Amino acid sequence: MKPHAVIIGAGVLGCLSALSLTERGWRVTLVDQGQAGLESSWAGGGILFPLLPWNYSEPVNRLALAGMARHGALCDLLLEETGIDPQYWRCGMEILPPLNLEAALQWCKDHAFTCEERGSSLWLPEVAQARNPRLMQALKALVRLSGITLVEHSTMQPLAATQGRITRWTDTEGRCYEADVFVVTAGAWSKTLLGEHGKNLDMKPMRGQMLLYRTAPDTLDHIQYREDFYLIPRLDGHILAGSTVEDVGFDKSTTADTAAALAKKAIRVLPALAEASVVKHWSGLRPGSADNIPVIDRHPQFDNLYLNTGHFRYGVTMAPESAELLAALICGEPPGLDLTPYAYPQQ
Ligand SMILES: Cc1cc2nc3c(=O)[nH]c(=O)nc-3n(C[C@H](O)[C@H](O)[C@H](O)COP(=O)(O)OP(=O)(O)OC[C@H]3O[C@@H](n4cnc5c(N)ncnc54)[C@H](O)[C@@H]3O)c2cc1C
Repeated sequence: MKPHAVIIGAGVLGCLSALSLTERGWRVTLVDQGQAGLESSWAGGGILFPLLPWNYSEPVNRLALAGMARHGALCDLLLEETGIDPQYWRCGMEILPPLNLEAALQWCKDHAFTCEERGSSLWLPEVAQARNPRLMQALKALVRLSGITLVEHSTMQPLAATQGRITRWTDTEGRCYEADVFVVTAGAWSKTLLGEHGKNLDMKPMRGQMLLYRTAPDTLDHIQYREDFYLIPRLDGHILAGSTVEDVGFDKSTTADTAAALAKKAIRVLPALAEASVVKHWSGLRPGSADNIPVIDRHPQFDNLYLNTGHFRYGVTMAPESAELLAALICGEPPGLDLTPYAYPQQ
């Protein structure tokens, strides 16, 4: 009999973790409280790069770069297997001043990352993007094609077991899930889901609001970044303008003030947007973690409970590598990266 894993949370981390375990011969049940892929993983910008990596620690960069390196092949596979195109696009990113050019150039040199000084801006031609809603639709389709049981609209209750081995976990309707291994990939809700066993997790939801413009397809052909604000062009001419990082709890509302502030920044970077129409304004809750370092580990109080969560601003970028690391850990294989920085915090 194949070993069985129940994975809670069907965002990008849950879907890819499920696929990585399936490839290793596991039977997987993937559970979500809503529809798969419609929370943070849907709401994000899809930039496959840690914005200003020289401002982050090496554990963040290592995981992000390793994830980024897997995305091209992943998106090809998704298109081939599902017919849904995640629109992977190596469009490059231009970082506009002010920026710490010295630190940026040093980082690029240290990481053999191609860059070019363009006056006071920095051009990073290797930066790619994927289109989140399409990426998540394709992942959901591949999950189904791979024989993974996807259960939607099943809200798992906070963990009731006390220690040792978890044999069952129930949802709010009383449905009971049994498995050899349980995995928490519940994004911003992971800490709540663990109940009192999540108290050591330094995680909280961090809201991000985003504006979507409709423009002619050739209006912008690369990502532009300026002072924690970015414009992301899509292949069909839509341009995303984002984002905010707000500590407002589980509040997913959008605000008119923020829309106005984002529009002002957008027009400053690309004046042509003054004439373009805003077609959508949304928000998502990132799984905020201390220093943007996720937890990829077994829970110290349970033999068969694992976490793959807390990827904060770069979950889409990191997910393909993070899922492989988790699956390797569960299966007792040597991990592709040192897992020490991603350990569950002991206190
Ligand atoms: C505005 C914005 C911009 C972003 N831009 C980028 C970017 O450019 N590049 C990048 O790499 N990252 C970006 N991110 C971050 C990225 O989106 C997240 O890090 C990533 O999506 C986290 O994925 P996840 O699977 O952990 O969480 P989610 O996608 O939120 O998935 C968690 C899932 O768990 C489910 N769940 C929760 N509780 C329960 C429960 N009790 N029972 C069952 N299911 C449950 C939820 O319904 C949800 O589907 C951005 C995020 C936002 C909001």
